[in-house]
Amino acid sequence: MHPAEPKRLVLAQLPTPVVELKNLARQLGIPRLLVKRDDLTGLELSGNKIRKLEYIVADALTKGATALVSHGGFQSNHCRATAAIGARLRLAVRLFLRTAEPSPALDGNLFLDHLFGAEITYHTPEEYNGRRQELIDAAMDSQRAAGRVPYFFPVGASVPLGCWGYIRCVAELVEQLGKDTPIDLFCAVSSVGTYTGLILGKALFGCDQWRIVGVPVSDSVDSLSRDVRDLERRTVAEFNLGLSEADTPIELIDGFIGEGYAIPYPEAIETVRLLARTEGILLDPTYTAKAMTGMLTTIRRGGVRPNAIPVFLHTGGAFGLMARRDLFTSQT
Ligand SMILES: *Cc1c(COP(=O)(O)O)cnc(C)c1O
Repeated sequence: MHPAEPKRLVLAQLPTPVVELKNLARQLGIPRLLVKRDDLTGLELSGNKIRKLEYIVADALTKGATALVSHGGFQSNHCRATAAIGARLRLAVRLFLRTAEPSPALDGNLFLDHLFGAEITYHTPEEYNGRRQELIDAAMDSQRAAGRVPYFFPVGASVPLGCWGYIRCVAELVEQLGKDTPIDLFCAVSSVGTYTGLILGKALFGCDQWRIVGVPVSDSVDSLSRDVRDLERRTVAEFNLGLSEADTPIELIDGFIGEGYAIPYPEAIETVRLLARTEGILLDPTYTAKAMTGMLTTIRRGGVRPNAIPVFLHTGGAFGLMARRDLFTSQT
């Protein structure tokens, strides 16, 4: 790993495997298609968030924290992973969750948040977005009042420390595929920590033959590009990485969000069914179904470099799929 790597707490099952999707490649008429299985970082701790939390929770423990405070949507994978870590490390977990419904169904990740014993409050999108700082302060105060030392991190754990999770993932991929092997790596982008870590890692480890393509699933290419640059700037400064924007080209592709975050569309649902039936692999309707739709469409349009192997970074989310069985009932 890179010498500037901060302290890490080992929580994830690493390295995650890289597997060939032979059936899907054959169906697409291409020689190879690979998946980096970051959905297999653990069961309770599955998905991409756990790589970021390894660094964040290490910092929390160094600072003497006894409670973790965070937030996200009511089916947040990040919040579920945080709740599970809290239970494992005997830290209290306080989550505030965004939901338009006063009492959302206790299904998928939300069911697990409760099962892991997190303290949870629900907030309307207006309150969650408009009064964010007040909600953070109130959550921190309530933990202090209970005699705990709270440690806060934002939605998706996409802060400079969290970026190290995907810098490490690049180091793993270098071991598994080689830094001189041309690959076109695709992943979902939302709170941008995963994508920012990947482009920093690519630059730090000199993977000049790699192309890293992000598929936005929540916000526009312009807005997420700004978020990536902002997080990149902060990470480079905080850890003295000595990189400039010229070292880290951003490539985000438009057209796969649908109507908005966590709103699936028919083509993405069809992609879930395709991966399930051709490869026995689960995607989730919020992130990976849209990202895989972006990758498959790019392949079909001839948008992968002719000498490159397409690689999909599977960022997890299976519990979110369980909460959306309703999308499939008519045909499954
Ligand atoms: C959070 C999440 C993402 C997006 O990663 P960011 O670092 O937030 O951009 C992708 N896939 C899944 C399953 C996620 O939970």
